[in-house]
Amino acid sequence: MWEDYVRKVEPYVPGEQPKVSNLIKLNTNENPYPPAPGVFEVLKHADATELKKYPDPTCSVLVDALADFYHVDREKIFVGVGSDDVLSMAFLTFYNSDVPILFPNITYSFYDVWANLYRIPYKQIPLMEDFSVRKEDYYQANGGVVLANPNAPTGANLPFKDVEDILEHNRDVVVIVDEAYADFGGESVLPLIDKYDNLLVVQTFSKSRSLAGLRIGYAFGCKKLIKYMLDVKFSFNSYTMNRPALEMGAASLRDRAYFEEKVAAVIKTREWTKGELKRLGFSFADSKTNFIFARHESVPRDYIFTRLREENILVRAFKGDIVKDYLRISIGTDEEMRVVIETLEKILKEK
Ligand code: PMP
Repeated sequence: MWEDYVRKVEPYVPGEQPKVSNLIKLNTNENPYPPAPGVFEVLKHADATELKKYPDPTCSVLVDALADFYHVDREKIFVGVGSDDVLSMAFLTFYNSDVPILFPNITYSFYDVWANLYRIPYKQIPLMEDFSVRKEDYYQANGGVVLANPNAPTGANLPFKDVEDILEHNRDVVVIVDEAYADFGGESVLPLIDKYDNLLVVQTFSKSRSLAGLRIGYAFGCKKLIKYMLDVKFSFNSYTMNRPALEMGAASLRDRAYFEEKVAAVIKTREWTKGELKRLGFSFADSKTNFIFARHESVPRDYIFTRLREENILVRAFKGDIVKDYLRISIGTDEEMRVVIETLEKILKEK
C-alpha cells in the first residue's frame, strides 16, 4: 500500500534535446552564441584534483561577481542550479498559506507543477486576449504573486510601472518576478528591491549569458528575504553549485562587453525576424525576449511544425486550448533565421 503515500505529481515537460546533428534548434530559447571567452579559459585550466573537495556552500566567488556586476550587496543575492532551482526554493520558502497564490493562465508551465508538488493552493488568472497582464486582476486577496516578465511563452512585457503597481497592492505577500528574458528588452525591477521588502527578482545565465548547460540562476531581494531562502536551501542541499559552475559563472560576469554585444545581436536578429514573419502572414504579441510566439493566419500550426521538423528545424508547440495555434520560435543566428524564413516561405507556398 506504499503507493497510497507517494507524493504523486504531474511533472514539467522540458523541451526536447535531440541528439541529431545539422539541426537548427529553436525549441528551448537557448542563446545561439557561445559563452564569454573567459568561460573557455576556466575550462582549459580546470584542475580535476580540486573536485575531490566539496564546493563552497556560500558560492562566494559567484555571489561576489554578481554583486560587482549588478552593484547589489552580497546579502541580497541567492544563487542556485538554474533559475528553476531558485524559483522552486522560493515557492517552498515563501508560499506556505491556505490562500491561493496567483499567476497567469498562460505562463511558464513549471509554476503550477511546483505549486502542486509543494501543495500550495493557486489560482491561474486569464491573460487578456492580446496576451497582456491586466494588473488589476492581481489586486485581490492572495498568498503570493508570481509573474514571468517578459512572460513566457508569449514574449509580452509588462511595463515597469505596472509591475510596481502590483507590488504596491501586494505588500503583505511575496511577489516573485521571473526575469529569465528581461535582458532582451524588458525593464528589470531590480532597482525596487530596496523599496519593497517583499520583492524577489529571479534571473538566469541560461539565456542572455549562453550558459544553459551550466545551470546557474540567481535572485535578488532584501536581506531578510534572502536569509529565509538560504535557511531553506541549507535545509535541502548545502552544496547546490558545483566548483566548475561557480568559476565559469564568475568568469562570464567579468566580461560585460561580450554580454552586451551578444544580447544586442540577438535583439537585432529578433527584430529582423519579426518583420519577415509578418510578411509571411504570422501574427504575434510584440516580443521583448529571445523568442517569438506566433500563429499563422491560414496554415495550421501542426502542419508548419511537422514540415519544419522534416526540414531539420525544431521549434516548440505547446498543448492547450489557447496556445494550440502558436509556435514558439527561439531566435538563432542571422544565418539560422534566414534559413528558417526561407523554409517557412517554401512550406507556406505548398499549402
Ligand atoms: N523562467 C522562465 C520563464 C523560463 O522560460 C525558463 C526556461 N525554461 C526558466 C525560468 C528556467 O531557466 P533555467 O532553469 O535554465 O535558469
